[in-house]
Amino acid sequence: MIPITVVDVRDAEPLVVEVLRSGSIAQGPMVERLERAFALVAGTRHAIAVNSGTTALVAALRVLDLGPGDEVITSPFTFAATLNAILEAGATARFADITADDFTLDPVRVAEAITPRTKALMPVHLYGQTADMGKLSALAAEHGLHVVEDAAQAVGATFEGRNAGSYGLGCFSLYATKNITTAEGGMITTDDDAVADRLRLVRNQGMRTRYGYEMPGHNYRMTDLHAAVGIPQLERLAELTARRRANAKRLTEGLDGTLGLMLPTVARGREHVWHQYTVRVGPHAMLDRDEVVEGLTRQGVGTGVYYPKVVFDHDCYRRHPQVTACSLGHVPNAARAAEQALSLPVHPALTEAQVDTVVSAVRKVLGA
Ligand SMILES: *Cc1c(COP(=O)(O)O)cnc(C)c1O
Repeated sequence: MIPITVVDVRDAEPLVVEVLRSGSIAQGPMVERLERAFALVAGTRHAIAVNSGTTALVAALRVLDLGPGDEVITSPFTFAATLNAILEAGATARFADITADDFTLDPVRVAEAITPRTKALMPVHLYGQTADMGKLSALAAEHGLHVVEDAAQAVGATFEGRNAGSYGLGCFSLYATKNITTAEGGMITTDDDAVADRLRLVRNQGMRTRYGYEMPGHNYRMTDLHAAVGIPQLERLAELTARRRANAKRLTEGLDGTLGLMLPTVARGREHVWHQYTVRVGPHAMLDRDEVVEGLTRQGVGTGVYYPKVVFDHDCYRRHPQVTACSLGHVPNAARAAEQALSLPVHPALTEAQVDTVVSAVRKVLGA
């Protein structure tokens, strides 16, 4: 079986052992080292490590002081963590549709969704490609809105030469299967010194000095053990991303022209980091998406369906008082993506021969 993801952190052993032997295993110097390295890669003044991508989003929203009824506009085609973070921070979620081709927020739909209660935009850089940060930043500036980027899947991605996570508060995940990992972990990037200061406070119970509390906080801290796993990964980020790009290119060359299959596009001015290589099984294909998944499983090719439903299409969210009513008809592009999207293996551990196996399996299953 060719798996959809492979986690390889063997190179972390020396640093992890160093932390174990030091006896100081919670947040300490290794976390600081990871933060400095991350800020350099992200091109921001600050990077604040936390214990997950979800808590990165929550912490970012919390330092914006959103009150009850304040709205955050986000994508309906995302992982539940995006929505859960908005709810946890006490804000209200409003959805705008994605575009027809890049799986990210459509700035036209976002503009229509802005109300007097809107306080922040939360684009999701899905699969490793940023949203249209030029148009979204312009909208945010025009309406005086904060920007919190869900860059969980997009470490290293750029929009017009600027890094994902540098347009607003950048929230990254370092979960096991993301492009780089600390097992569980997250990072928040910002150029704003005051915001960085508040993020460091909220992460540690709001404490400036021992038992000197300046704001209600939480324990969002990363441990030195986790940071030690991430440091070698971050050093290899360019190489890992280059391998994902080479695999994506080979998949696109091999799959081009397959009947009924729509290949992922890279919008002009954006650099994709291929967290996922996501095709759409369109209406002209001989099979539907779920049948293609079954066929590929039989051929020994692992796949992922991210995500089989739009995020609000579950009873726990539809009835939630902090979720503004939204129908599938209001987000047709997201609804279609949930039916058609299928991710194929693109991870850096793939050999060229395995990529070719994926290509021929897809062609065979689709009868092309
Ligand atoms: C992974 C992910 C998150 C959450 O990150 P965790 O580290 O798992 O908490 C948030 N948003 C998106 C789009 C993700 O893919």
